[in-house]
Amino acid sequence: MAKVLAITNQKGGVGKTTTTVNLAASLAAAKKRVLLIDLDPQGNATMGSAIDKGKLTVTVYDVLIGNKSVREARVFSEAGKYDILPANRELAGAEIELVDIENRETRLKDSLQTVQDDYDFILIDCPPALNLLTLNGLCAAKSVMIPMQCEYYALEGLSDLVNTIRKVRANLNTDLQIEGLLRTMYDPRNSLALQVSEQLLKHFGDKVYRTVIPRNVRLAEAPSFGLPALYHDRESRGTQAYLALAGELMNNEQITVPVL
Ligand code: ATP
Ligand code: MG
Repeated sequence: MAKVLAITNQKGGVGKTTTTVNLAASLAAAKKRVLLIDLDPQGNATMGSAIDKGKLTVTVYDVLIGNKSVREARVFSEAGKYDILPANRELAGAEIELVDIENRETRLKDSLQTVQDDYDFILIDCPPALNLLTLNGLCAAKSVMIPMQCEYYALEGLSDLVNTIRKVRANLNTDLQIEGLLRTMYDPRNSLALQVSEQLLKHFGDKVYRTVIPRNVRLAEAPSFGLPALYHDRESRGTQAYLALAGELMNNEQITVPVL
């Protein structure tokens, strides 16, 4: 059975996609079987996995609508060494089309049943909204990873998200857990970041990952090279941080990255 993780935060630009892509690549480097699901019509995780979203004929949209199975829609990302259920702008239409479809919140969950045993990890990159696509991610997942920047409004947004997770748990997915909160784009020289980080640790304790993702230009530029950061600059602090996060997720197993 795969561990299914939704990477979500309704706030935009907090590092969801960067986390999903680099975590997927790190877990794959540790010989884990990984499926990345791009649930965002922006298709950033698709592009970040070096899959050209403009050339796709089958996407996660077809899976949600019921036109294709996951096996038919998934592709292998050579760049990241994992499978991906890709997305492009077509997915924006699913929001509207799903409204009239039966079990609209559990379409993704239902479609994943047949591939649960093909993978160790299924990582779902959610869009920056609490919409029907995100709900599908939250219903399919066993737990939620919340990337967040340690800034002034972060805690406020977090309480909205925690409330949504509570509602999903009450109504749709009783097993849903918060896997952890991930501090992203972290700059320890920023005193506000330090304060917010302290608040997070105070309120959420060991739900906050020990691993902190630093602000690191290699992470930001890697997609333009069509690579996860691991294969762009493996020594960079960003790469090392995501390897450490993958290790934390696998109960602190050490990862030896194969030399390519
Ligand atoms: P959206 O809400 O639009 O989906 P997101 O939460 O997925 O955004 P990303 O796309 O991962 O966020 O990151 C937003 C921007 O910040 C991107 O340009 C990305 O390259 C950059 N970025 C992400 N993490 C880091 C980091 N640790 N250091 C430097 N830049 C980063
Ligand atoms: Mg994103």
